[in-house]
Amino acid sequence: MLVDAGLSFRELSKRLASIGEQPDRIDAILITHEHCDHIAGLARFARRVPVPIYITRLTAPIIEWDGMTPRLEPFQAGARFAVGDIEIDSFTIPHDAVDPVGFSFRAQGLKIGLVTDLGYIPDSIKFHLRGSHLLLLESNHDLETLRCGSYPWAVKQRVMSRNGHLSNDTVGDYLAHEFDPSTGTVILGHLSEHNNHPEIARMVAQEALDRRGLATRLLLASQKEPTEVFRF
Ligand SMILES: [Zn+2]
Ligand SMILES: [Zn+2]
Repeated sequence: MLVDAGLSFRELSKRLASIGEQPDRIDAILITHEHCDHIAGLARFARRVPVPIYITRLTAPIIEWDGMTPRLEPFQAGARFAVGDIEIDSFTIPHDAVDPVGFSFRAQGLKIGLVTDLGYIPDSIKFHLRGSHLLLLESNHDLETLRCGSYPWAVKQRVMSRNGHLSNDTVGDYLAHEFDPSTGTVILGHLSEHNNHPEIARMVAQEALDRRGLATRLLLASQKEPTEVFRF
């Protein structure tokens, strides 16, 4: 399953090949929201590999399909559905898109949580992430770097707003207090190239985990290369 398709078909194929996979072995695409870093390669991918695309009812009509007719599987944000033997929960996230969602995946007693692009972490999302064995969570920006950086003020405000993106500090606060300690691995993702530094994001999260004495494995996702392949 592919969650979002922000990369070009070529780049995605290359990265899949690097982990021993290929595009036509993908059974479904799931879309979180319509921002271009999440769908830039979608129409092209769907043309080359006509798999079902799971997308919310409100997001589907606003995507440019470049003249092709995609195999859409629209769902209501908040719905539960299955792809093969994987059970998926979708949940609404606070972000400035039409109908953005995060996902959790369950199969064979294993749960994976995946949420990026959110301005804060409401209780409903904390609930959905509980019990995850592996969690991919946005740690988008360092507030100080964002404030002092070159983005126009309106953009800075948008990023910092409750419909923007998670700061390292918000993630640290979540890890220090409400994060489920039974989660074995946390991957910090969707780091801003301009307003963050991987080592700052890592430090803030690690300090939060250390404060609770948690031995959670902490990893950082890069937009330049795939993470390791996780096997359970
Ligand atoms: Zn977004
Ligand atoms: Zn994004």
